[in-house]
Amino acid sequence: MSRILLVSNRLPVTVKVEHGEVLVTRSPGGLATGMKGPHERSGGLWLGYPGDIARLAPDQRTALEARLEELRYVPLHLSSGEVSRYYEGFSNGVLWPLFHYLLDRIPLGDRDWESYRRVNERFAELVAAHYREGDVVWVHDYQLMLVPGMLRKKIPNARIGFFLHIPFPSAEVFRILPWRAQILEGLLGADLVGFHTLSYMRHFASALLLVLGFEADVDRIYTEGREVRLGAFPMGIDAAALSTLAGSAEVEAEAQAIRQPGQHILLGIDRLDYTKGIPRRLLAIERLLEREPSLRGKLRLVQVTVPSRTNVEAYQGFRSQVDELVGRINGAYATVHSVPIHSMYRSFNERQLASLYRAADVMIVTPLRDGMNLVAKEFVASRTDEDGVLVLSELAGAASELGDALVVNPYDIGEVAAAIKRALVMPEAERRTRMQNLRRRVLQNDVHGWARSFLETLEEQNESMSAGG
Ligand code: UDP
Repeated sequence: MSRILLVSNRLPVTVKVEHGEVLVTRSPGGLATGMKGPHERSGGLWLGYPGDIARLAPDQRTALEARLEELRYVPLHLSSGEVSRYYEGFSNGVLWPLFHYLLDRIPLGDRDWESYRRVNERFAELVAAHYREGDVVWVHDYQLMLVPGMLRKKIPNARIGFFLHIPFPSAEVFRILPWRAQILEGLLGADLVGFHTLSYMRHFASALLLVLGFEADVDRIYTEGREVRLGAFPMGIDAAALSTLAGSAEVEAEAQAIRQPGQHILLGIDRLDYTKGIPRRLLAIERLLEREPSLRGKLRLVQVTVPSRTNVEAYQGFRSQVDELVGRINGAYATVHSVPIHSMYRSFNERQLASLYRAADVMIVTPLRDGMNLVAKEFVASRTDEDGVLVLSELAGAASELGDALVVNPYDIGEVAAAIKRALVMPEAERRTRMQNLRRRVLQNDVHGWARSFLETLEEQNESMSAGG
């Protein structure tokens, strides 16, 4: 097995100082879970930013470096200027809204591209410095789209894969980006470019034609004497582990404590991000309560919003917009016994989330665009009781797999309200059949299979190329 060099903006760790001692804890994100097996088995490295360590004293810094080395993590330290320009400014300020079709969120300034390019170059240099003949390099996500191309120049024969964790937008939207050609050329440095869905992959192929004049042969492009393959690899979750946790007696008891007799629980779990469709979801609840007086006092939306990207301008006014809507709806429809929107601005751990998933009658996942949306899959994996209804945006990548959800247009407030109503009155037999179908899918296509199939495709392609000369 080849050594795998994983490259992502963030290392999957959190660095903390407690009583003067440096603590490195692994962060449990989807990518970290999926990469754990390949990282451990291949004896490879993971390169990325470990977070801000400016506060650390020299001996604490040495301790950190030693601990990271033990984990085979290679840190790339970013200055505060780089974090603010490459990460917050360009990646999250420009690429994120553009790739999610929310063009009015893009700021007017164009000063951050240069920083994005330079940090990508730093990543490529670090990877090249650690590269050994025969290694496989797997670069992740929109923060690092120039890395494959830069790396290809430094190590022409390397096997390089790239996976995009967010949508790839329609070519007509992508073309707006002043640096569209550089981004595409950067991605074409890879041997395999992976997306969550076939539709993102087709958008990418159209962008290649529109911007560079390159024609794809279905899922292959030939450039500079090389073949670049495109593929759809829908990311999954660690479904078996979550299913076990959610089926435990402890979680079942917690879920029981959340439920209240005679009350329906609706659930929303999202980062506080303008792509997640939270305001329109709230308006759909308002619409439902307006139209269905019999539901007043009998319905509670538990909405968890996790603080996110608070330094990015487009996120700053957003929280008060959401709070204002919550206040308005609660003001109009609360009774002395209940409030319709139970809003929490904080994060929860896996067990607490599992309890919420188990307690919900209806999970509402209505992003305006979302690369995949793992929360939808986590809800399904948690429902070992084969009950509960998923209302899912057709504009989330997950919708291409989870057709047994009630699939809605998240911009259509009336349709979302109607789908919630339908979920609340759905006969048990239908709920069960839908959930069984959803579970089959989510349990089968898990995050381990996702990582495996991407890596296999990458290796297989290179074998056939070297065999064919
Ligand atoms: N999550 C979490 N704590 C919370 C809320 C969410 O750990 O309080 C996790 C959730 O379990 C999921 C991830 O955050 O794995 C969100 O992933 P998703 O693909 O849904 O959206 P993203 O935030 O990546 O856009």
